[in-house]
Amino acid sequence: MAQLIDGKAVAARVRAEVKAETEKLKAERGLVPGLTVVRVGEDPASKIYVTGKKKAAEEVGFNSWEVHPDEKITQDELLSLVDKLNKDPAVHGILVQLPLPKHIDAERIISAVKPEKDVDGFHPVNAGKLSLGKPGPRPCTPFGVMRLLEEVGCNPSGKRAVVVGRSNIVGKPMALMLLAADATVTVCHRKSNLAAEVANADIVVAAVGVPELIKGEWIKPGAVVIDVGMNRMPDGKLKGDVEFAAAKERASFITPVPGGVGPMTIAMLMRNTLEAAKATS
Ligand code: NAP
Repeated sequence: MAQLIDGKAVAARVRAEVKAETEKLKAERGLVPGLTVVRVGEDPASKIYVTGKKKAAEEVGFNSWEVHPDEKITQDELLSLVDKLNKDPAVHGILVQLPLPKHIDAERIISAVKPEKDVDGFHPVNAGKLSLGKPGPRPCTPFGVMRLLEEVGCNPSGKRAVVVGRSNIVGKPMALMLLAADATVTVCHRKSNLAAEVANADIVVAAVGVPELIKGEWIKPGAVVIDVGMNRMPDGKLKGDVEFAAAKERASFITPVPGGVGPMTIAMLMRNTLEAAKATS
C-alpha cells in the first residue's frame, strides 16, 4: 500500500521558505519582489486561479497586483500593457493567465513578456534554456513535481520515468526536467502503448486530462506515481488521470487528487518570482 504524498504540506513548506528569503531580501537589499497577474475577461476558472496566486503572493510578502482588462481588449492593447509591465522596475514577475480570448494570439503575448520576468517559464527563450540544460525559470507544475519527488526521497537518477502527456506546459518540460535529473525518460501520447510503457516505469507522471486513464494494474510494484490530472466530474468533484484506488495498492508513493500536485503549482510560482527579483541588480 502506497504512502500518500501530501502536496499541501510540501507547498506550505515551499511558501514558508520563500517568505523567509523574501524577508531577508527586504532586510539586506530593500527589495520587495513584485508579481503582476494579467487576467483578461471573465473566465470563471481563471478568476479562482488568479485569486489564489494573489493571496499566496501577499502571504509570502510580495507586492502583488492584478490587472484585469475587459475581454474586448485588442491584441495591440494587450501587447502595450505587457510592454509597460516589462519596463516597470517594481514588477519582477508577469503572469498572463491562460486561456486568453480567441481573438488574441496567446503565443505572441507569452513571447512579448520579457524572459527575465516570465515566471510561468513558458517563454520560448526559457523553454530553450530548459532544453539546453541552462538555468532559468521552470514551468511551475513540473517544477513542483520535481520538488515532490525530492521530498519523498525519490532521486530520478538511473530510474525509468514515464511521462504521459506531451503538452508544452506540463508533459514536455516534465520530461526534460527528469532527463536533467538523469532519469531514462519515455514520453507517451495518444499513439503510445500506455499499458506496456507504464509497466516499465519506476516513476510515472500522468498529465493527460482523462479521468483514470492510467490503470492501477499497469503500475510496476513499488513505483512512484505522480498524478497531475485535474478533471472536474459531473458531481463537481476532482478526479486525477490515474485510477487511484487500484494504483495505491501497487505504488510506493502516490499523489492524491486533489491535494497532490495542485497546491505545488502556485508555490513554485512564488519561488520563480523570488528568483526573478533576486536576479535584478
Ligand atoms: P493538454 O495540453 O490537453 O495535453 C494532454 C496530453 O495528453 C497530450 O499530449 C495528449 O496527447 C495526451 N493524451 C490525451 N488523451 C490521451 C490518451 N487517451 N492517451 C494518451 N495520451 C493522451 O493538457 P495539459 O495542459 O498538459 O494538462 C494535463 C492535465 O493536467 C489536465 O487534467 C490538467 O487539468 C492538469 N493540469 C494540472 C495542473 C496543476 O496545477 N495540477 C497544471 C496544469 C495542468 P497528444 O499530444 O497525442 O494529443
